[in-house]
Amino acid sequence: LNPVPSDIEIAKKQKPKDIDVLAEEIGLLPEEVNLYGKKKAKVSLDVLNRLKNVDDSKYVVVTGITPTPLGEGKSTTTIGLAQALGSQLNKNVFACVRQPSQGPTFGIKGGAAGGGYSQVIPMDEFNLHLTGDIHAITAANNLLAAAVDARIFHESTQKDEALYSRLVPQKKGIREFSTIQIRRLEKLGINERDPDKLSPEDRTRFSRLNIDPDLITWQRVMDTNDRFLRKITIGQSPTEKGRERVAQFDISVASEVMAVLALTTSISDMRERLGHMVVATSTTGEPVTADDIGVTGALTVLMRDAIQPNLMQTLEGTPVFVHAGPFANIAHGNSSILADMIALKLAGPDGFVVTEAGFGADIGMEKFFNIKCRRSGLRPHAVVLVATIRAIKMHGGGPTVVAGKPLAKEYSEENLELLEAGFSNPRKQIENAGYFGVPVVFALNRFANDTDSEVETALRLARESGAIDAVCASHWSHGGAGAVDLARSVIKAAESKSNFNFLYPLELGIYEKIETIAKKIYGADGIELLPAAQAKVELYTKQGFGNLPICMAKTHLSLSHQPELKGSPRGFVLPIRDIRVSAGAGFLYPLVGTMSTMPGLPTRPCFYDIDIDPHTLDVTGLF
Ligand code: ADP
Repeated sequence: LNPVPSDIEIAKKQKPKDIDVLAEEIGLLPEEVNLYGKKKAKVSLDVLNRLKNVDDSKYVVVTGITPTPLGEGKSTTTIGLAQALGSQLNKNVFACVRQPSQGPTFGIKGGAAGGGYSQVIPMDEFNLHLTGDIHAITAANNLLAAAVDARIFHESTQKDEALYSRLVPQKKGIREFSTIQIRRLEKLGINERDPDKLSPEDRTRFSRLNIDPDLITWQRVMDTNDRFLRKITIGQSPTEKGRERVAQFDISVASEVMAVLALTTSISDMRERLGHMVVATSTTGEPVTADDIGVTGALTVLMRDAIQPNLMQTLEGTPVFVHAGPFANIAHGNSSILADMIALKLAGPDGFVVTEAGFGADIGMEKFFNIKCRRSGLRPHAVVLVATIRAIKMHGGGPTVVAGKPLAKEYSEENLELLEAGFSNPRKQIENAGYFGVPVVFALNRFANDTDSEVETALRLARESGAIDAVCASHWSHGGAGAVDLARSVIKAAESKSNFNFLYPLELGIYEKIETIAKKIYGADGIELLPAAQAKVELYTKQGFGNLPICMAKTHLSLSHQPELKGSPRGFVLPIRDIRVSAGAGFLYPLVGTMSTMPGLPTRPCFYDIDIDPHTLDVTGLF
């Protein structure tokens, strides 16, 4: 239809097929499919074992130029491309996308199911609870948080022997260590396995974690943008006997449990990683982990269903996995490895998996390669770099967008000068993909008022910048039919020779790894470690975390650390304020600026428009 109706109107008009029908079409066995209502299902990891001898399909990652408030359409293009490959070109195809947080859904950004005629449906279920994975993460995260404070409380109120006999109680006259306690004995190097024979010193070493309350790094989380929880005081009831401390809430998707879910490859691997999550430092400077707290098994139980990818579909009936949605700054911002792995098997050797990486190529794509692909062992065949004429013009010096004001004429009328100036950004991002040896297809996501000469200029500049092909696509207004040329070009690129390599080896020092990313990907002259960061380089190297990959926590709005610098800034030194470790997820994250891990609500949040029809139970206003 022209004009294109709103996202939710389009989504509601298309009746999705029942998910068990789709599951059968794509070769899943009934016992591998756990239905959540009629339109969503979880898919068992057993598929990986059943199809272990099937060759993987081609693996395509969708990324974008540096984001602007004008939007680039990465999710829309991921879905549109999958629709074109599937319903137009009859390929076996899967799209793999992230599950959105409810924070932005009700706050500023709104839904994330794609847009126009390229969407995941039912989009209300996609944007709301889905199958409860984020709630499971919230539950696991907060169980661990509660356990940390409770442990400090009990250690401080009990004498050594009482503490020991409560931690290792006698049941029917027998005292035994639990599995998780045996892991702690191993960590402490204690060989004695009979609890009654442990020496008094070893009992104390075993029971006392001696957590320094000022050095707790594990926070509570919830999936609502609630700025008043950014700094709180806990323990104010007299029952906690004055053990008050300042703490904070983060948004659930910032929890390390989410990053673990996104990067894990099996239940046992997830258990291992959850156990390694560092929650605090002891008074003697040792990292305290979830294993030490004894909660790893319980966390894994809470995450048992969440580990299965969620099957949904596009407007054109193409299968989609929606799974995990870690923050793209303090975490790596990519959907789950498991969803990609299962999709690659189900699509098979002649098929395609289109997966999306968050933010711009300097962040989402760099982490996709250096963190996600390194962990999974999967090798991508092509990169699709999404851009819009409007966003490129903003990189060329176009005016900033003011909420509630009409768009400046620079964006609604032809302006080749701004376009050429702003192309420095796509050019740099194409170069960035080139560092990994993977061919890049430039996808211009067409908006209604882009002129033909603007489109032609952008495509020419992209080819001149090293893209293997550059294509204009109109999947937002035409669905899969609007992205057929893009799909053909992606098929060709994926068949061309790719020489995949990582940007840095893990053995490189922490400083050198950060420097490599800053110089090559951001175009910085170098990096400067501020004192806190310098101290962490030494600490983490000593603690054995030096070989982890790097997950830069940098603004997504510029290639540099200054969000207002558009295009491809040069001549800057990247300051590293601090470095933190996600030992379970398995990366170090250098903080380039201050990163908010709990968004706030604007004056007029999206929730003003969200409502329900009491008769049909249809949701309105979700975009
Ligand atoms: P990203 O993944 O890059 O954040 P999305 O794909 O979520 O971007 O798109 C952001 C918004 O822009 C969505 O509401 C979508 O409907 C809209 N949009 C995307 N492409 C177009 C287009 N070609 N014309 C008009 N609106 C579009």
